Amino acid sequence: MSSQIAIQKVSQPKPKPNQAELGFGHFFTDHMFIMDYTAGQGWHDPRIVPYGPIEVEPSVMVFHYGQATFEGLKAYNTVDGRILLFRPYANAERLNVSNERLCIPPIDPNFTVEAIKSLVEFEKNWIPAGEGNSLYIRPFVIATDPYLGVKPADTYKFFIVLSPVGAYYPEGINPVKIYVESNYVRAVKGGLGFTKTAGNYAASLKAQEEAKEKGFTQVLWLDGIEKKYIEEVGTMNVFFKIDGEVVTPSLEGSILAGITRDSTIKLLKSWNVPVNERRISIEELYVAHDQGKLEEAFGTGTAAVISPIGELNYNGRTISINGGKTGDLSSKIYHTITGIQNGSVADTFNWTVEVK
Ligand SMILES: *Cc1c(COP(=O)(O)O)cnc(C)c1O
Repeated sequence: MSSQIAIQKVSQPKPKPNQAELGFGHFFTDHMFIMDYTAGQGWHDPRIVPYGPIEVEPSVMVFHYGQATFEGLKAYNTVDGRILLFRPYANAERLNVSNERLCIPPIDPNFTVEAIKSLVEFEKNWIPAGEGNSLYIRPFVIATDPYLGVKPADTYKFFIVLSPVGAYYPEGINPVKIYVESNYVRAVKGGLGFTKTAGNYAASLKAQEEAKEKGFTQVLWLDGIEKKYIEEVGTMNVFFKIDGEVVTPSLEGSILAGITRDSTIKLLKSWNVPVNERRISIEELYVAHDQGKLEEAFGTGTAAVISPIGELNYNGRTISINGGKTGDLSSKIYHTITGIQNGSVADTFNWTVEVK
């Protein structure tokens, strides 16, 4: 694999979107990264080219059998004028975990991070100013053989696209109402739950739509076999503070190993807050609530960092957590991680990587 990234510049840069209207994932920068894979040759021709439509045949395998993996991370402008990525090597390594499960060839994690850095550096004028705003980075891989047989493809494309995004909480961090899903399931052990693949998201849409119709923001997923143990909340990992101890479902094959999850666990340990990765049932959670021991609940993920849960509904029974308000620990984790990302809190874990 050549690490020389060829560059083709746009002739006319696009106007930048209005800061107040960024939202999430609506706008894309002027350029994107592409690299090709051909069996026998490996990954080749890394290049930065103008962002725009790509032409493929309708028969390309990704459209039919879903061989597609992706990642999500952000670039942040710091308070002192640097550009930081948050734990990008963890994303690059996780992409290979997903690739391995979907029979997609691995990509050298160091090269993935180099490609991200090169593209972000090239597009640095697109990183929006303003507190909480950032540049969302979406690396993804698709199978591109024009072929209808079911087998792993022989050709792939690796893309990186960039999207300026607004603060997740423009009006301050806000707890959400969650529907505990007891009909649909997201994943089972042995399946794809631990990977970031398009199919997992397709499979989750129906439950999310039905929960929204009922007035909830997201669903809390239970395990796919007994529908008893808590797995994830929407597309985030989930944590509960019960009687002073923080509990999060252990990684047993059906749960995505979130980087925000891992960072949260490491922070809690450094603060000497007891944290336990184990199975936790929805029954146990409701009992803890009834005993007055369920102190906080929150989701973790790159987009929101921390999303406090103010209310849960399971089989028609609603419980309120911490009076529907953001808990102190949730708030402390949120401010610490976002502070490390924007350079206002010391990065004692060496999590950030600077883009030159
Ligand atoms: C991406 C993702 C997460 C969160 O992972 P982070 O690395 O923290 O962004 C959690 N659950 C699912 C299903 C995901 O796809």
